[in-house]
Amino acid sequence: MRRPFIAGNWKMNTDSNSGPELVKGIAAGLTDIDSVDVAVIPPFVYIPAAVEAAASSKIAVGAQDMYFEDKGAFTGEISTAMLKDVGCSYVLCGHSERRHVIGETDELINKKVIAAISGGLLPILCVGELLEEREAGKTDEVNERQVKAGFAGLSADKAAAVTIAYEPVWAIGTGVTATPDQAQEVHAKIRKLVAELYDENLASQMRIQYGGSAKPGNAAELMSQPDIDGLLVGGASLKAEDFLGIINASA
Ligand code: PEP
Repeated sequence: MRRPFIAGNWKMNTDSNSGPELVKGIAAGLTDIDSVDVAVIPPFVYIPAAVEAAASSKIAVGAQDMYFEDKGAFTGEISTAMLKDVGCSYVLCGHSERRHVIGETDELINKKVIAAISGGLLPILCVGELLEEREAGKTDEVNERQVKAGFAGLSADKAAAVTIAYEPVWAIGTGVTATPDQAQEVHAKIRKLVAELYDENLASQMRIQYGGSAKPGNAAELMSQPDIDGLLVGGASLKAEDFLGIINASA
C-alpha cells in the first residue's frame, strides 16, 4: 500500500516571515491527519526557518535542488551534506524549471539523484513532457528517457529511495491541469517502466506524484486514480488553506 505524499514546492517565493508562518499554518491544520506524508520545499535560505517552524509537526522539509559534489570549489552550489545538516529530508531533482529554464541535462540530474541517495536524502525525480512534445506524440518517449536516465546506475535498493513526480510541463503554473485520465495513463506507463528496469515489487512500492496546477478542487479526482500516489504542488502550496485542502482531499 503506497502512502499518499503531498509536497509543496515554494519555488522562488516566501520570505523570512511568511515562510515559517506558512509552515505553522499547515502544521495547525494537520493535527488530525495521519494518513498522508507532507513536505514543504522552501528556497534554500529559508530552509532552517522552515525546519524550526516544522519541529514537532508532521511536516518534512525538502530542498528544490542540490549539487552532486560533496564540497569544494563550486561557487553557488549546495551539497547533500549541507541539506542534511540543516534538517532536509527530501530534494527535488530535475524540476522542469531547472531542466528548461536553467538547462539541466538528464546526465546532471542522474548525478544529483545518485548523490542525494548516497548522502541520505530522498530524491523526488521530476519528469514530464513539453506541450510541443505531447502534440508531436512524444509524451511516452520523453518520460521514458527521463525516467531511465534518472535511475541510471542505481541498484534496486537505492532506487527504492526515489519518488517520481510526473509533471507535464504544459500544466505547471498554467492553471491547466492534466485530466485524471491523462495523468493516470502516463503514471501507469512509468510504473511499468520501473518494473522493467527493476521488478514488480519495487514498482508497486514506488510513489509517483502528479504535478501541474493541482488545487483543492481537483486533488481528490487526481488522487482517486490507481497510479497517482501524491501531488507535487506549486502555486497552491503557498496558502496554508489551499495546501491543507489538497492534503485533506488526499487523505
Ligand atoms: C511545480 O512547481 O512543481 C508545480 C506543479 O507547480 P503548479 O502547481 O503551480 O503548477
